[in-house]
Amino acid sequence: MQTLQSRNASEIWSYFSSICAIPHPSKHEEKLKQWIINWAKKRDINCVEDEVGNLILKKSASIGSEHKTPVILQAHLDMVPQKNNLTQHDFLIDPIQPIIKGEWLHANNTTLGADNGIGMASCLAILADNTLEHGPLEILLTTDEETGMTGAFGLKKDALQGTILINTDSEQEGELYVGCAGGINVNVNINYEKMEAEPSHNAYEILLTGLKGGHSGCDINLGRANAIKELISVLNNLESIPFHLASLQGGSLRNAIPREASAIIVCDKIHQNSIETLIGTLNQQLLKKYKNIEDSLLLQITSRSLPCAILTNTSQKNLLDCLLKCENGIVSMDNNFSNVVQSSSNLGVLVQNRKSLRFEIQVLVRSQIEEEKQQIAERISQHFQAHLGTVRKDGNYPGWKPNIDSKIYKIMEEKYIELFETKPKTMVIHAGLECGLFSKKYPHLDMISFGPTIKYPHSPDEKVHIGSVDKYWKLLTETLKAIA
Ligand SMILES: [Zn+2]
Repeated sequence: MQTLQSRNASEIWSYFSSICAIPHPSKHEEKLKQWIINWAKKRDINCVEDEVGNLILKKSASIGSEHKTPVILQAHLDMVPQKNNLTQHDFLIDPIQPIIKGEWLHANNTTLGADNGIGMASCLAILADNTLEHGPLEILLTTDEETGMTGAFGLKKDALQGTILINTDSEQEGELYVGCAGGINVNVNINYEKMEAEPSHNAYEILLTGLKGGHSGCDINLGRANAIKELISVLNNLESIPFHLASLQGGSLRNAIPREASAIIVCDKIHQNSIETLIGTLNQQLLKKYKNIEDSLLLQITSRSLPCAILTNTSQKNLLDCLLKCENGIVSMDNNFSNVVQSSSNLGVLVQNRKSLRFEIQVLVRSQIEEEKQQIAERISQHFQAHLGTVRKDGNYPGWKPNIDSKIYKIMEEKYIELFETKPKTMVIHAGLECGLFSKKYPHLDMISFGPTIKYPHSPDEKVHIGSVDKYWKLLTETLKAIA
């Protein structure tokens, strides 16, 4: 870190180094908050903590800029605590150890917290630097973004006066974010009835593995296979063989595209050869369908011992039918931005609860457009209800609808071209940002999100590109100067 402090964005590196030294995983930001409160006190910077634990710091305009539009600069206080299995690290006590490797800054086999620590460091650097030119400033540091956005959810409607908000939580230099998706969870329970399997029958496990999976929002447009949906369509293609379903499961997280799914089926011994051949053919068909996307895909069949129970025919038909027809993947594309998904749904988890005799299904619906999100969630709910499912919706959070007339966007784009002689990319992220919640509470806020390049956030491989932090700092300070 010493060597970084001689660079352009030297103040950012100095504050980032302090932030790394103070543990601040989500829901344990107290020590870092106290450090910031004390730091502000020493500098006579107004700093208050609101009821939910967000910090709001204020800085008056630089001399001659008092008339300028007031700006809110925002970052989140918490970081995701992830380490490699063999790494000894207590995120509540141990400091993060940043290491320079070439053009990148890493941590020592843990997350680095550049997400959103660099943004936070830049906020402090702006507060501390009295040579900068800017209008009235409010710094909003939210609590607990990573595990529920409780800070953004709890922010009061009258806490801020600024009319422009700059969010620093994006992760690719050269991209300016002007919108994000909101989300809603659809939770479904489908009861089933069971019966005994024929003792003379054979049992097989059909397993679909090797899929890429990925983020159910950001990666939904990559054409990847959903393991649950593909396994259901495999079972649907076995119709020439009368089989009974004994178990079915797939996926592990609602917000991840399922990478694996498995079923145990039971059928007469005479079908052994044909079922094995058919699975081989279906494996080839899937590889062909997902050529160059899912080349490690593997559909396998193996013998298993006979299970004690199978689903009744009615329950089996009902379950397979409703999963087959459940809306999944991209639902609509944005008309104003090319290649931007507007709405999507992800059938993320399917669990069989043998005690309660039911299947539990988790779907995540995302959209930039609130009404569309509600409509899709309702359509999926009604679909499952028509198959005797009970449905509960929760985890609703709003999106941020892109505003093509955004002033802050125009200023930042102009500054970017002026500074770096190339146009920045305009982006809308198909995932949640705190901006969605801010836009609900402060509908008139003109917002933008940007940041330095951070790779593999939320994983022990997290790293930030050092040169991109210089560019980030230049763009940020020049933008604040340019806002009229
Ligand atoms: Zn973040």
